[in-house]
Amino acid sequence: MNTTEPTPASTTDYDVIVIGGSYAGLSAALQLARARRHILVVDAGHRRNRFATSSHGFLTRDGQPAADIAAEGRANVAAYPNVAWHDGTATAARHDGGSDGHAFVVELDDARTVRGARLVLATGVRDDLPHIDGLAERWGKSVFHCPYCHGYELNEGRIGVLASGPLSVHQAQMLPHWGHVTFFTNGVCPLDDAQRADLQARGVQVDDTPVLRLVNVATVVLEDGRQEIMTGLFTYGRVHMSSPIAQLLGCAFDEGPLGPFIRTDESRQTTVPAVFAAGDAMRAASSVALSVADGAMAGVGAHRSLLFGVTPFAAPMMAVSASASSSHSGAR
Ligand SMILES: Cc1cc2nc3c(=O)[nH]c(=O)nc-3n(C[C@H](O)[C@H](O)[C@H](O)COP(=O)(O)OP(=O)(O)OC[C@H]3O[C@@H](n4cnc5c(N)ncnc54)[C@H](O)[C@@H]3O)c2cc1C
Repeated sequence: MNTTEPTPASTTDYDVIVIGGSYAGLSAALQLARARRHILVVDAGHRRNRFATSSHGFLTRDGQPAADIAAEGRANVAAYPNVAWHDGTATAARHDGGSDGHAFVVELDDARTVRGARLVLATGVRDDLPHIDGLAERWGKSVFHCPYCHGYELNEGRIGVLASGPLSVHQAQMLPHWGHVTFFTNGVCPLDDAQRADLQARGVQVDDTPVLRLVNVATVVLEDGRQEIMTGLFTYGRVHMSSPIAQLLGCAFDEGPLGPFIRTDESRQTTVPAVFAAGDAMRAASSVALSVADGAMAGVGAHRSLLFGVTPFAAPMMAVSASASSSHSGAR
């Protein structure tokens, strides 16, 4: 754990505390740093894609190591003297008054507490993977969940979809654009006639034999003794919040197809005033690009909320700042 303190802010008071310093949090922090706010980024260092060797689909960084993109982002943010960084975990957060009635106390894992006038939650999610022997160690290497991220590199080879539930049909329907698909239903995704016909029309081969384990790069060992050699595999896990802080603060959640995510409005404000959220923690569809975009919006949203005051959930952004600036100019 390591905290670098900014100048000239006090050691414990920040304009904004960003919890989670990966793509979404870094992007929020960059906007806030450039707005000359005093901010603290708290990051435990467990990016969701840390299992993958390379990251794809993020413009200008396509195919680069995911860790390098995060490290470069951190260097961008750390270059601003008004940014403090804590390598560690925010263990709790609570509302704590403040000059405008909106401030938060955040507890850190080194037993310190810090105060922020605004919070950005960019804490991401963790994947609860299907229990198939050999799957976890291949996650991000030859077993993936997102074809846009890792489908192209399979070079239109043999792709296996390992069912984890009814939603897996959707994954099997998508993947023929990336290769020759076999859908292993594995006893957890019973198909009706219409689904079988649809998959057949898409060129998907369905295999209902139970899966025993994965071996080699992406070979599927089946209960009847067959070994299906695949170029790569796809599956869905359930997703869970990486941190309980949004729940502790009372943020509302929506239920996505793979798990809950924090409800936000256009400015990425959550249902708790002055608390913003960005990245995988607040959206069902996930990617580095989307997280960076959300983070930029959350950073700007948090800054506007410092400038113009806290707005109700889902207030239109432009209307709010237009009315604030017209009342400001009228007062002069
Ligand atoms: C195997 C795999 C491969 C992927 N490949 C790609 C790809 O090729 N291209 C692509 O665009 N996307 C890819 N993704 C998706 C991508 O990883 C996510 O969309 C992205 O990481 C989300 O960014 P984020 O900042 O929201 O969350 P994360 O990157 O998950 O970062 C969250 C951060 O918050 C920290 N944190 C959590 N709780 C706390 C706390 N209480 N205190 C302090 N810090 C905390 C975590 O330690 C972590 O550092 C992949 C995902 C997986 C699982």
